[in-house]
Amino acid sequence: MFIGHFGVGFGAKAGAPRTSLGSLLLASQFVDLLWPLFLLLGVERVRIMPGITRVTPLYFESYPISHSLVAVMIWALLFVIVYRGIKKYTRGAIVLGLLVISHWFLDLIVHGPDLQLAPGTGIRVGFDLWASFPGTLVVEISIFAVGVSLYLGHTNARDAVGRWALWALIVFLMAVYFGNLFGPPPPSVEALAWVGQSQWLLIFWGYWIDRHRRIAHVRGESSAQ
Ligand SMILES: [Zn+2]
Repeated sequence: MFIGHFGVGFGAKAGAPRTSLGSLLLASQFVDLLWPLFLLLGVERVRIMPGITRVTPLYFESYPISHSLVAVMIWALLFVIVYRGIKKYTRGAIVLGLLVISHWFLDLIVHGPDLQLAPGTGIRVGFDLWASFPGTLVVEISIFAVGVSLYLGHTNARDAVGRWALWALIVFLMAVYFGNLFGPPPPSVEALAWVGQSQWLLIFWGYWIDRHRRIAHVRGESSAQ
């Protein structure tokens, strides 16, 4: 899953208006930001096998530190502690923790049975929506659309950057998504991992956007800040 994770990050603005979009996207995509690093370090393994699913050419051999349920919960807890410590915004910290965990459950929908519950355990789960190309598109694009519209509904542009940098990110994410769906498989695991590392730029893009947008007046929420 790709834009689905970003969609949930965008939408979480509704639950934590004072948390930057950059932090929300960082949390929702966090374990996919760790994963390329672990691939490069050789602690986690993936194989490129075109045709293994209808959607992705990847066989996820082993990724317990980034993608097992227990590990994801530990990452989430760290997120809560660090963010709460720095920002003193408990609501934001809880939303970020839930976003980190949301990643695993969204992956659970699309992945084949390759997600471990805990490192070292044999049970692997996954509902395998990737067996269906249209099913994957419908689910992921719906999540993205709902999330983006929530973000749009809860924020207003302060200036032209706030408007156009946001739309540029939305279009860019869609382009990357369709590029992955219809483009050739990655030439090597290393290339895949380095492209994965470049996702950090998307996080900075999120922080940049958020600084140029303000919280919209939404019923029942303070618009302070
Ligand atoms: Zn993932």
